[in-house]
Amino acid sequence: MVDKEITDMVTKQLETMGIEIHTSAKVTEITDEAVVYEEDGTEHKINTKIVLMSVGRGPRLDGIDTKKLGIKTERGAIITDEHMRTSIDSIYAIGDVNGKSMLAHTASAEGIVAVENICGIDSSMDYGIIPSAIYIEPEIASIGMTEEQAREKYGEVSVGKFPLMANGKAKASGEERGIVKVITDLKYGEILGAHLYCIHATDMIAEMAAAMKLEATAGEIAHTVHPHPTISETIMEAMHAAADGSAINF
Ligand SMILES: Cc1cc2nc3c(=O)[nH]c(=O)nc-3n(C[C@H](O)[C@H](O)[C@H](O)COP(=O)(O)OP(=O)(O)OC[C@H]3O[C@@H](n4cnc5c(N)ncnc54)[C@H](O)[C@@H]3O)c2cc1C
Repeated sequence: MVDKEITDMVTKQLETMGIEIHTSAKVTEITDEAVVYEEDGTEHKINTKIVLMSVGRGPRLDGIDTKKLGIKTERGAIITDEHMRTSIDSIYAIGDVNGKSMLAHTASAEGIVAVENICGIDSSMDYGIIPSAIYIEPEIASIGMTEEQAREKYGEVSVGKFPLMANGKAKASGEERGIVKVITDLKYGEILGAHLYCIHATDMIAEMAAAMKLEATAGEIAHTVHPHPTISETIMEAMHAAADGSAINF
């Protein structure tokens, strides 16, 4: 889900810490002593006493008789429209059960949308601008399209980047790792995606969410005065890079 450039940076950082990473490997057995997995058609075994498993989640509809209610489902999730309505007009479904974006803040936003529609206010979800957070050190936060997705959809795009090591607050905080990266369209400067891999990333992504919600352009954010010294200046700088071809301080 994460922009490839950031995935590569994180991978490198983890490997520097001595962590071995195996992707496209299939775990076939976990015993008290070891993890057995297949990679490239060969079986491997790692002796270990501790395993942390993090294999994703799925909608859980136990106790909800969707068939009896006549609610349509797809791959184990309740089908909803952007107003959170199910296939039965008077029944709404929010949160993990609709399997759209299984995050706490999505569930909250969907709850508000559903209630507003129930109360007669036309309200809808925009799943393209839901931020996500990964609590690694430094943090990762993303919203919108990755560079790959944006290039696939728009062809040419503008990519603005700013490294944390060129930010004063990052230097003073002793946390200069990471990058802020924004992707914009060439025609209007519309923000298509933002990917932050840095200290305070999960807090700063809210600015990107607001900007995308308000359809702000990269130029508008670049010309929005950000306080100094703050990590948030990296966003302003990356927007300059996307809108004007280069950042101010890098
Ligand atoms: C380990 C873990 C870590 C996570 N970390 C994050 C995170 O950092 N950030 C983030 O955004 N999201 C995170 N999530 C996801 C987040 O918790 C869910 O997306 C969110 O809770 C979904 O809200 P919900 O209301 O759909 O479901 P839930 O929060 O699961 O609430 C559903 C409620 O319905 C009740 N219920 C179930 N069946 C019935 C029934 N038949 N009748 C009545 N009540 C019923 C349940 O008991 C429960 O109280 C995490 C999830 C897990 C498992």
